[in-house]
Amino acid sequence: MSNIDRLTRRQFVTGAGAVAGAALFPEALRGAAFQDPVLNQGSTNGASAGREKASWQAFPFPMKQVRLLPGPCMDAQEANRRYMNTLPVDRLAHSFRVTASIPSSAEPLGGWEKPDSELRGHFAGGHYLSAVALLYASTGDEDLKKKGDTLVSALADCQKEMKSGYLSAFPVEFFDRLRDRVRVWAPFYTIHKIMAGHLDMYTLAGNQQALETAEKMAGWVDGWSGPLSYEHMQRVLGTEFGGMAEVLCNLYAVTGKRQYLGVARRFEHAAFFDPLAAHRDELKGLHVNTQIPKVIGAARRYELTGDTRSRDIAQYFWDEVTSERCYCTGGTSNGEHWGSDPGKLSKELGPNTTEDCCAYNMMKLTRHLFGWSPSAHYMDYYERTLWNHRLGTIDPHDGTTMYYLPLASGYWKVFGKPFDAFWCCTGTGAEEYAKLVDTIYFHDNTSIYVNLYVASEVSWPEKKIRLRQETQFPQQQGSKLTILAERPTDVAIHLRIPYWAEGGSVKVNRQVLPVFASHSSYLTLRGPWKNGDTIEISLPMGLHRHPMPDDESIQAVMYGPLVLAGKFDAVTPEMRYAGYGPRGAPFKAPEITARLDDVSTWVQPVSGQPLTFKATTQEQPVDLVPLYQVLENKYAVYWKVNPAKG
Ligand SMILES: [Zn+2]
Repeated sequence: MSNIDRLTRRQFVTGAGAVAGAALFPEALRGAAFQDPVLNQGSTNGASAGREKASWQAFPFPMKQVRLLPGPCMDAQEANRRYMNTLPVDRLAHSFRVTASIPSSAEPLGGWEKPDSELRGHFAGGHYLSAVALLYASTGDEDLKKKGDTLVSALADCQKEMKSGYLSAFPVEFFDRLRDRVRVWAPFYTIHKIMAGHLDMYTLAGNQQALETAEKMAGWVDGWSGPLSYEHMQRVLGTEFGGMAEVLCNLYAVTGKRQYLGVARRFEHAAFFDPLAAHRDELKGLHVNTQIPKVIGAARRYELTGDTRSRDIAQYFWDEVTSERCYCTGGTSNGEHWGSDPGKLSKELGPNTTEDCCAYNMMKLTRHLFGWSPSAHYMDYYERTLWNHRLGTIDPHDGTTMYYLPLASGYWKVFGKPFDAFWCCTGTGAEEYAKLVDTIYFHDNTSIYVNLYVASEVSWPEKKIRLRQETQFPQQQGSKLTILAERPTDVAIHLRIPYWAEGGSVKVNRQVLPVFASHSSYLTLRGPWKNGDTIEISLPMGLHRHPMPDDESIQAVMYGPLVLAGKFDAVTPEMRYAGYGPRGAPFKAPEITARLDDVSTWVQPVSGQPLTFKATTQEQPVDLVPLYQVLENKYAVYWKVNPAKG
C-alpha cells in the first residue's frame, strides 16, 4: 500500500468512547465464504476453500452483501436485468439441443448465436449463465435464478446425450479442425464461456448440477488436450481460447482437484508469455481480447500456486497496457488489435477503437492487482474505465450494448439488437452490468476500502457494521457515508482520494478534519464509530487535458474522472443499430486554436448546468458533456489543437 495518510479520528472528535486496540474478530475472515466472480474460494459448505498460495491483501465483499442505490450504475444494472429476463430459455437452449439430437422447435437466436455461427453457444450457454448468477448475487432476483437453473438442467440433458462430457452448441468436429489447424473460429473460447457460466451458477447461485456439468466438461478438455504434444498444443493456442486457463484454475480452487491445475497449464501460451516475462512489449499486431484473458489466467495461476513468474507477467502487462496502450477512456485496441509501437496512439483513432470486451477484461485484471497490493492507482484506472467506457455503452432503456467505443472525432455509438447481436461484447456487457457491486468496496481484517463513489450500501455482518453511501456522483463532487452499527465498532475506513481531485476535504459528523491525503492514495479514518456517524468527503473536480502520448496537439478534455465529448448532430435509430460500429461519414469536428498546455483557455463551464461546458472553436461554439451521457449524437473526444501564437 502506498501513500496512505493515516489519521486518528479520535484526535478530532470529542466525546468518543474508549477504543479497543485490536479488531473485534481478527480471525473472522478466515472462515468466511468469499463468493466472488473472480475469487472463487467458496466451497460447498460455505467455508473458505483457502487454496490460495498467494493471498489477496484486500478482498471484495461477497456480492450479495453490496446493493446499489439509485444512480447511473443502478440504471445500467436494471436495464441489463430487464434484458436478461426477456431471453427465453428454450431459445437459449435451442442450438445445444440440436447438437445433442434433442428435438427443439424454438426459434433460433440471431447474430453470433445463429444456427450456422461457429461461435454459437458462447452467449446462450455461457455469458447468459454468468450474467444470471452475477445478477442473482447483486440483486437477489429469484425469477432470474430460476431461469438459470432451468437452463443448467436443459444443458445437462444435452451433455448427457453427448456422453463424453462434451457440451457445446456446435459439433465436436470443430475440435478436429482446431487440432488439424484447419480454419475454425474459436472453439475453446466458446467452451470457456460455457464452463465459466456453469461455475458462476455454482459459486454465486448455489447450483450443484452446474458444478457437475463444468467438471464433466473439464474432463472432456483433459481427454482432448492430453494426447497432444507440447508443441502441438502450443500451435492450437494460436487460435483464440478465451479464459480456459482461468476457468480451470477456478475449478481447482473450488474442488481442490489438482488435475485441473495441470490441464490449465496446457493453456499457457509461451509465445505470448515469454516476452512479457522478459519485460518486452511485443504486443504490436496482436489481437487484444485474445491476450488479456491469458494474463488473467496467469494472475490466477500465481494466486493458486505462488508462481512469481506468472505474477510478473501480469504486473508487467498491466503496467505496459495502461501506460502505453490505453486511451483517455481507459479503453484499449483499434480494430481489435494493437497496431502500433508502445505510446504511439495518435494515428490509432478510427470508428472501431476500444472494443468493449477489452475494457471488461482489463478491469477484471485490475481487481487482481489491486487485491495483491491495494494501491489507489489501480482504482483510479478502474474508475476511469467504469465511467467513460462502461457506463454509456449500455442503452439504459433496453439493455442493449455496444461492440466498439469509437474515439475518432465525429462518430457515434452503435448498439446491438436484443435478439440479433450476441457479439462477444454483448456477452461481456451482460456480465459487466451484472457485477457493478463487486469493486465499490474491498476489505481486509480490520478495515473497509471505499474504492468507488457509487450510491450503494455494504453490509459486513462479521463486524456488525453497514456502510451506506449516498451520492449523486459525478454531478456531486463527493459523497456521504453513514455508519450503521449495532454497537460502537473500530473498523478503519479507507477513502480513495482520486488522482484527479483538486484538493478536497473530509467532515466527520459535520466537523471538518484539518488533514487530507495526497492524490491517488487512501485517506484512513479510524474508529470507533457509532450508529449514525457520518463521513462527508468533498472531491473537487477540475478541467484537465489528456494529450496523445506521441502528439500533444491531439487532446481529449477531462473533468475530474470524466472524459468530455463535444456533442453534435443527433443520429437516426437506423444509424444506432447498424452493425458492430458506425457506418457512414463522421461529422467533421472543428479544430481548436489555443494554448496546448491549458485547456481552460478554450473550454469553460456553463453556469447553472452541472457537467456542461462550452468549447471555443474557430468555427462555432460546441457543447461538451460527459461521454457517458452521449447516447444519440455524433461526438468528438479527441480534438486537434493548433497552438495559439504568442
Ligand atoms: Zn468483444
